[in-house]
Amino acid sequence: MHNIPYTQDDFQRHPLMFYYEVTQACDLVCKHCRASAQEKPAPDEMSTEQSLALIDDVAKFDRKPTMVFTGGDPLKRADIFRLLHHAAKRGIQTALTPSATPLATKTAFQNAKEAGVQALGISLDGPDAAVHDSFRGFEGSFRKTMEMLATARELRFPVQINTSLTRRNFDLLDDIALLLADQKIMMWSVFFLVPVGRGLEEERIRPEEYETVFAKLWHHSRTKPYAVKTTEAPHYRRYVLQQGGHPLASPRGAGGPGESALAHQSGTHRAPLGVTDGRGIMFVSHNGEIYPAGFLPVVCGRFPEVSPVDVYKTHEVFRQLQNPDNYHGICGACEYRMVCGGSRARAYAVTGDYLGAEPDCTYPAGQHAVALQPGSPGGQTGT
Ligand code: SF4
Repeated sequence: MHNIPYTQDDFQRHPLMFYYEVTQACDLVCKHCRASAQEKPAPDEMSTEQSLALIDDVAKFDRKPTMVFTGGDPLKRADIFRLLHHAAKRGIQTALTPSATPLATKTAFQNAKEAGVQALGISLDGPDAAVHDSFRGFEGSFRKTMEMLATARELRFPVQINTSLTRRNFDLLDDIALLLADQKIMMWSVFFLVPVGRGLEEERIRPEEYETVFAKLWHHSRTKPYAVKTTEAPHYRRYVLQQGGHPLASPRGAGGPGESALAHQSGTHRAPLGVTDGRGIMFVSHNGEIYPAGFLPVVCGRFPEVSPVDVYKTHEVFRQLQNPDNYHGICGACEYRMVCGGSRARAYAVTGDYLGAEPDCTYPAGQHAVALQPGSPGGQTGT
């Protein structure tokens, strides 16, 4: 079952990636934090028993998604390894996104490994301490991040580096790419800012600058020893197709813009084109609220009152998001809507309409609306 590639039809029934924000607590105060993290856990954070029940529920999907345990800082939860171990016992693949604080020790990474975690997500926003530490609001964060990467290498943990792109590091992208070339990482994921949470305080790049960044990412995907993907910028898939590439297979044969590090590492979850908020992705917050994605905070119910499995398959918001023909404006008419569809989160954050046009795409979709044909970019559904 696991070796069967996902198709677009799969995404009507089960997500590929399930993000669980186990806590909002975190000792960092990052400038772009979606969760607006705080030092102490929120009073309504789900208990251990509720979190275990959530994992049991996720295991009921016909195809079990990969569960990413995120935060805040997931290592701030005393029961994190118990939760991870429970997910592994239920046959769920897991990934962990520890923050660069003193909690991210070698022992913690070893415990994660013993609990079955298959990949780590580590944040890096600049090529040096000056830039990165100012992003993260914590002096010494860059040094700690490098130390975490060394520990991950020592323990042979596959790593996905997550970089948040804003005006402040826009010019430093190539330097970051170069730094990562020596780190033996598996995947570099570049996140394009969505103005929610503390991200409101940061300035996102201009729409025309996306194309410049896409060109750089495409270059690095062909010249560096890691795969490259984007988060909240699915129009990178459109860019790759326009260059004659295939968004799922980097020239080095390692992943692509539609795959996570974990998917690549395991070789089991081949993501088809078009994974985006609510369509292949699902998010549950620290207090059980269910969203189509962490950056798309439209509440679609709350666990344990409702089951994420039912919400994913039947909730109107998810159903609308799962069919790009429903999208409004240029994205609904674009021939790339099935492989891209634009960031639903950014459309919502900027316009208030989660089905609205991607605000940061310059593609002249209105002039290119065509019926999808088998073999056209929008007609591709799998790997
Ligand atoms: S117009 Fe929308 S669907 Fe088309 S490439 Fe741009 S973001 Fe993607």
